Amino acid sequence: MRPWNFSAGPSKFPEAVLKTAAAEMLDWHGSGMSVLEMSHRGKEFMQIRNEAEQDLRDLLQVPDEFAVLFMQGGAQAQNALIPLNLLGLKPGAKADYVVSGSWSKKSFQEAQRFGDIQLAASSESSTVIQGKDQGSFTWFPDPSTWQVRPDSSYVHVCSNETIGGVEFNNWPQLDIPLVVDVSSNIFSRPIDFTKVAVAYAGAQKNAGPAGLTLVIIRKDLLGVASEQCPNTFNFDLVAKNDSMLNTPPTYAIYLAGLVFKWLTQQGGVAAIEQANIAKAKVLYDYLDQSSFYRNAVEPSVRSRMNIPFLLNQPQDAAFLAEAEQAGLLQLKGHKSVGGMRASIYNAMPIEGVQALVDFMQAFEARHG
Ligand SMILES: *Cc1c(COP(=O)(O)O)cnc(C)c1O
Repeated sequence: MRPWNFSAGPSKFPEAVLKTAAAEMLDWHGSGMSVLEMSHRGKEFMQIRNEAEQDLRDLLQVPDEFAVLFMQGGAQAQNALIPLNLLGLKPGAKADYVVSGSWSKKSFQEAQRFGDIQLAASSESSTVIQGKDQGSFTWFPDPSTWQVRPDSSYVHVCSNETIGGVEFNNWPQLDIPLVVDVSSNIFSRPIDFTKVAVAYAGAQKNAGPAGLTLVIIRKDLLGVASEQCPNTFNFDLVAKNDSMLNTPPTYAIYLAGLVFKWLTQQGGVAAIEQANIAKAKVLYDYLDQSSFYRNAVEPSVRSRMNIPFLLNQPQDAAFLAEAEQAGLLQLKGHKSVGGMRASIYNAMPIEGVQALVDFMQAFEARHG
């Protein structure tokens, strides 16, 4: 058996997908070609690409008035591409950002270079719960407190802060387009496209290989990119060319397409969401009854995907070394938060989470 891999990203793939890709590496479906060797305009790759888009649309129930773009550069490239493509929606090049963790803070900072960017709300200040300082980015600013300017082109938020382990999806109905970084919880739960105008994601958490970037955008927002926006990153041109303006990341699209087919076989997003709820509950229930480990995030916004936790004694190095011996990989927390982080994306079965809890129990018994 392979070890359980808790990496935050690039992260665990469904094993069935890796096996299919391995089996098809030299000869895709009798074509005599590896997917790596196919023209992106040939009929074989067109089939792969079209099925990937259709499966993505079916999984997320993407309405027809939205375009699906397969782009490159990762979610951080979008920190520049979102303003370059969308600030022109209204005069004044204004946008408002909700900062709820490291990733949305990066988005906010990079956007400054392109227009009049303001903070709508921030959870960077720390909260004190039961007399204990929980640290910054451990809660989510309630939408009723957001300061959104009526003449802003869009509002930017992040639905799952991968580093802090804070997840929020209860979006308000805004008059202004809501742009959501869904990099680390896409396909783990539904997206409400009556409230979300743009959802974008780097693929390497829940959808496929690093580098591939998914952008799902309402079509009426296309066509206002700045003159400075590179053609290959212009949403409207990418949409008009079916994401083939330049050579797309063909193998990454193929692998993401296999992930989409796997998700569909699991029963789709509704079924995966139920599995994710059950998985997260196993770990949070254990953390909450323990006095040896703790998670600092306000319970109502705890992430189902990324669960940071701290040990009450400085034994992180021993924990990580023994975890690796027990076949539990990549549990080290992000340096800004410290401690551990278990990322339990769609591809992690509940058995992996149970194995982690069993290990944590045994570690506490040995060292607590
Ligand atoms: C990983 C991540 C990013 C950065 O993705 P890159 O592909 O490295 O640019 C941005 N936002 C969130 C929420 C992430 O989890």
